[in-house]
Amino acid sequence: MNWSGENTLRYSRNILVEELGEAGQERLFASSVLVVGAGGLGSPALLYLAAAGIGRIGVIDDDRVDISNFNRQVIHRADAVGEWKADSAAAALRAFRPDLAVDVYPEALTAANAAALFRKYDAVVDGSDNFSTKYLCNDAAVVTRRPLVHAGVLRFGGQMLTVVPGAGPCLRCVIPRIPLRRDSPGCAEAGIVGAAAGVVGAWQAMEAIKLLSGAASSLGGKLLTIDTLSNEVSILTVVRDRSCPACGDHPRITEPLSAAEYDPERSCAV
Ligand SMILES: [Zn+2]
Repeated sequence: MNWSGENTLRYSRNILVEELGEAGQERLFASSVLVVGAGGLGSPALLYLAAAGIGRIGVIDDDRVDISNFNRQVIHRADAVGEWKADSAAAALRAFRPDLAVDVYPEALTAANAAALFRKYDAVVDGSDNFSTKYLCNDAAVVTRRPLVHAGVLRFGGQMLTVVPGAGPCLRCVIPRIPLRRDSPGCAEAGIVGAAAGVVGAWQAMEAIKLLSGAASSLGGKLLTIDTLSNEVSILTVVRDRSCPACGDHPRITEPLSAAEYDPERSCAV
């Protein structure tokens, strides 16, 4: 990244932060992040990652912008209804950061493409809205040894866990099997207050910024629960399960599983 006068000004407030400084900013310029989902979590995460000066951002989403998205998916314009969310989000990012390299994937993350895609990036932010994709992200992150900032939101709050393969637990250490759809209502059933997704998505961006700049330790091994209704935030320490099917001592998952294994209508076999 060239430190033109504009960039010196643009990132001046970052550089003033002692833990980041010029060296941390340079690392962000040289970093790449894949964001899975351009929805309620992905919207703030993408914007704050771009604002931080990340050099290259990939956005993958197989959905189109719908008017019911707008209470939380703040990256999309009102006239983008019907467009691929990945395209709409990329347009917003390019307008905000013309120098940003944006990779656009208007497709689903699948067991077939996840590992190859993850290997193209330094870190992954999971902004997906279903457990199948979240477990696929987890398994692909462990297999490819890419740090993953996992999160989920519902109603007024959410949970986060940063997975740093080789250095801490993964999602399957906490809940080994994919929860069945009937046991895990999503935002379409239980609702979501948009600002709650904004809080969690922005926090995900912060996690990725810390991981990539080396500014501070991340939430690796810590399950963070945020409840904006009660204003309670809690952290639960999670340890790596040596029998975990993904990151245990003798893992059974050495590549993302077959598509059927991520079917939310059935419990995962592993
Ligand atoms: Zn694990």
